[in-house]
Amino acid sequence: TVVTRFAPSPTGYLHVGGARTALFCYLYARHHGGQFELRIEDTDTARSTRESVQAIFDGMNWLGLEHDGEVRFQSDNLPRYHECLKQLLAEDKAYYCDCSKERLEKLRAEQMDKGEKPRYDGHCRDLGLVKSDDTIVRFKNPQQGEVTFNDLVRGEITVSNRELDDLVIARADGMPTYNFSVVIDDADMGITHVIRGDDHVNNTPRQINLYRALGFDVPEFAHVPMILGDDGARLSKRHGAVSVMQYAEDGYLPEAVLNYLVRLGWSHGDQEIFSKQELIDLFSFKAVNRAPSAFNTKKLNWINHKYMQEADPKRLAILVAERLKQTIEADFSIEQLLPLVDLFKERADTVNELADAMLSLLQPLSAYDEKSEKKAFKAAAIEPLERVVSHCRAVNDWDAADLHQVIADVVEELDVGFGKVGMPVRLALLSIAQGPAIDVIMRVLGQQETIHRLQQAIQ
Ligand code: GLU
Repeated sequence: TVVTRFAPSPTGYLHVGGARTALFCYLYARHHGGQFELRIEDTDTARSTRESVQAIFDGMNWLGLEHDGEVRFQSDNLPRYHECLKQLLAEDKAYYCDCSKERLEKLRAEQMDKGEKPRYDGHCRDLGLVKSDDTIVRFKNPQQGEVTFNDLVRGEITVSNRELDDLVIARADGMPTYNFSVVIDDADMGITHVIRGDDHVNNTPRQINLYRALGFDVPEFAHVPMILGDDGARLSKRHGAVSVMQYAEDGYLPEAVLNYLVRLGWSHGDQEIFSKQELIDLFSFKAVNRAPSAFNTKKLNWINHKYMQEADPKRLAILVAERLKQTIEADFSIEQLLPLVDLFKERADTVNELADAMLSLLQPLSAYDEKSEKKAFKAAAIEPLERVVSHCRAVNDWDAADLHQVIADVVEELDVGFGKVGMPVRLALLSIAQGPAIDVIMRVLGQQETIHRLQQAIQ
């Protein structure tokens, strides 16, 4: 059976690239009825934080990327890494190295000067050094032959062993390096498919040599291309939100973000909208693009808009209520918000936009006539507004009344175009010139609030 894993380092929030990698791991495992595991790579104690671990959990939770089994922490597994280290040393497949920083820097500078790729020259490889306080451990990478693997995204990749130097596998303090611990864990966890960002593709041949040296089976690999910003540079903070949870805060729906993420690099004809089950059914690496994909906020907004139209209005009302509580510390009931959701959602790309639009109805208007450019307009608006107010007062059963007729009657009385009455009424009720039909707004506001707002506008 297929076993995949997502193996983030907890050194920040869960970012868009990581989330997409996790999603591909998840979909591949689910598609094959296999397991999707989560491993926290926290051996870099200086940079790993508990908050980042929580941020990774939160992000995956929000996106609905459920993993199987217990979360595994590399920091719990140090004895096992040491055991493998001992094994390699005993089998003469690794050695202690005491090259100083200065020596390594000098070597590097010389190689760069000659236009060569910097690599360790194997100085300590055959010295038979023993462990001391500042010895590190290096792997004896084979010096002949080549490493070939068949990447599920990029196809066959071959690297000559002459290009690979003797990798550091343990630091002076005994801590394993990434390339060492990752191989041991992937083997111990029975990972069949290593799916990760293509910034790791150069590590893979080295890791394959380690698998072989340790006597492990070599898994399959899939390196997924990176995500670029809309300017073609690698996606980073300056392109806006790169943290997944920022999208939650910005009012996106998790299933829309998930749908958007999968389309960064994967396609199925020209279909854009996929349910999670459809993704599971359809996902394969054959349809993953080799080229990097560019992040496109417009498209994300388009997808989110689609999902908002389909979403349960009650759910949207709950999200709007949370948002309004956060932003203006106001408590609105779901019953109050629900009719407004249907009024405004068609124009909103995000829950936050929806909340902002609804606010124009939820809060009493007062700023209407303060601007001088509105004065001329106001002069012409007083009579129509006063008449609408008296017609409104005369309505007995507001919920049953034909509120459109109220406006139409005033239009007839004054013998003017509809806009001469409709426009001021709209502006008096709602501070935006566009929006839902006037009678719908009046119905939602109720008789009292409608009259109150009209009066405020003519004071
Ligand atoms: N901890 C590594 C990272 O976050 C994992 C890479 C891998 O999946 O092997 O980049």
